[in-house]
Amino acid sequence: VTRLILVLGDQLSESLTALASADKARDLVIMAEVAAETEYVAHHPRKIALILSAMRKFAARLRAMGWGLAYTRLDDPENTGSVSGELLRRASETGAVEVLLTTPGEWRLIQELQDLPLAVRFLPDARFVSRRSDFRNWAKGRKQLRMEWFYREMRRKTGLLMEGDRPVGGKWNYDMENRKVPPKDAVFPVPMRFEPDAITEEVLACVEERFGEHFGTLRPFWFATDRVQALAALDHFVSKALPWFGDYQDAMLTGERFLNHAAISVYLNIGLLEPMEVCRAAEAAWRAGRVPLNSVEGFIRQIIGWREYVRGIYFLEGPGYTTRNFLEHDRELPPLYWGADTRMHCLAEAVAQTRDEAYAHHIQRLMVTGNFALLAGVDPQQVHEWYLAVYADAFEWVEAPNTLGMSQFADGGLVASKPYVSGGAYINRMSDYCKRCFYDVQAKTGPNACPFNALYWHFLDRHRDRFADNPRMGNAYRTWDRMDETRRRQIIADASAFLEKLERRETV
Ligand code: FAD
Ligand code: SF4
Repeated sequence: VTRLILVLGDQLSESLTALASADKARDLVIMAEVAAETEYVAHHPRKIALILSAMRKFAARLRAMGWGLAYTRLDDPENTGSVSGELLRRASETGAVEVLLTTPGEWRLIQELQDLPLAVRFLPDARFVSRRSDFRNWAKGRKQLRMEWFYREMRRKTGLLMEGDRPVGGKWNYDMENRKVPPKDAVFPVPMRFEPDAITEEVLACVEERFGEHFGTLRPFWFATDRVQALAALDHFVSKALPWFGDYQDAMLTGERFLNHAAISVYLNIGLLEPMEVCRAAEAAWRAGRVPLNSVEGFIRQIIGWREYVRGIYFLEGPGYTTRNFLEHDRELPPLYWGADTRMHCLAEAVAQTRDEAYAHHIQRLMVTGNFALLAGVDPQQVHEWYLAVYADAFEWVEAPNTLGMSQFADGGLVASKPYVSGGAYINRMSDYCKRCFYDVQAKTGPNACPFNALYWHFLDRHRDRFADNPRMGNAYRTWDRMDETRRRQIIADASAFLEKLERRETV
């Protein structure tokens, strides 16, 4: 053996560049379940189970394809506990001095592997539409890195939803049609569920024993754990939910955890599905007349637009990105994020489904849990660690720009052109949460007023220096300035009293 081919837990794709460049006859594939990866944050047990089960099945698949493979299980007595430790151990066992791998999606791991006393060769990750160097070139010389412009480039590059060099239907973006509230009798499909097989059951038992204390419910475990299942889940989404994906994309309903969302980010992010095949399946359904244009465009924009864009930002900005704190927020993350009681129904719903499913959809992440943390001035580092831990689809390249950039404005406006903050009115418009809440969303002051209302003005007021000149915030500041002085004082006093309660860790 002359080379070790490292395959990580989120690189479970047969098309992986490291495998394509390897030689089945002489190279040895290395896969390892290690404590350093399962414990760098307190991951949701369901996320750990998904990755371990999918790794074991992918290893079996590679062996069946004729690869030589050394696999370390979490409970192997010789397990050194880290990816670099396992590479060194395998190198000394085999005499290998070279390692080949597809570049990891996390600076932490890239740096760890760069420091190894072995010849480590990193290959680009060709599972993405945009290479890191493509994004760097696109970003070069631009004053603002707006997603919409990047997205149009991606449409041209892939030819998705294009007629020559023009977007089909004449518009690039149909978002204006995508903010509908579902009718009362709407019925939503659920994502395809898979019974755990013997391999998954073994993993579930191991996760229960080792990570049972982590926040999150492990069973019923229903994720797809191999490519065949993930493809079935994709088909199911395209036929059952995609037609309405656009219409109700921003809606939130009590007890409806998935609405018409795809719930495929988990599969995309560990490599069981690839972005282009997902987009092509959606585009084919539109061409066959089964899906309207606003839905297919909205969906494809999330994948070749947002998903590729946030990855570009993560690598462009370098390892320091996750430590940014533009607004100098420093409050502790309130215990309600870990399931402590709250009377705020929107937060209780979003956190409960996060605990039960390791999933929440975009608007819940952005406009409920994210919005509240930003308004309350929570330390973005703690917010980042929470999102990284609790969602099964959370890997730093995608989670950090979404959390620190889009949601917490911690990068000073690189990703978001204005902070995503709102009072209760937005949540009330997009959900049925407020009807079931202890608080009154219409009330702006007083003990029963929705806390989002006063916190929203408190946020604008305390960050006036930073946002008053932002053209997208002008209206909000004008409304605030027009309020009479006594009302403004009352709002600030209410918000401050609420924040003190949070500080004392009282139930809010
Ligand atoms: P759908 O709504 O059905 O969208 C389809 C696909 O588009 C998703 O599967 C996903 O791959 C992609 N997508 C949509 N929005 C985004 C986005 N903003 N960035 C990247 N891809 C996107 N997504 C993650 O994959 N991992 C994360 O750790 C993550 N953390 C987030 C943290 C915050 C604070 C916010 C606001 C968003 C985060 N997102 C993250 C983006 C988004 O919320 C999820 O991708 C989405 O909810 C996944 O569910 P779905 O498959 O049902 O998505
Ligand atoms: Fe959330 Fe306020 Fe609505 Fe209650 S009233 S659900 S706290 S937005």
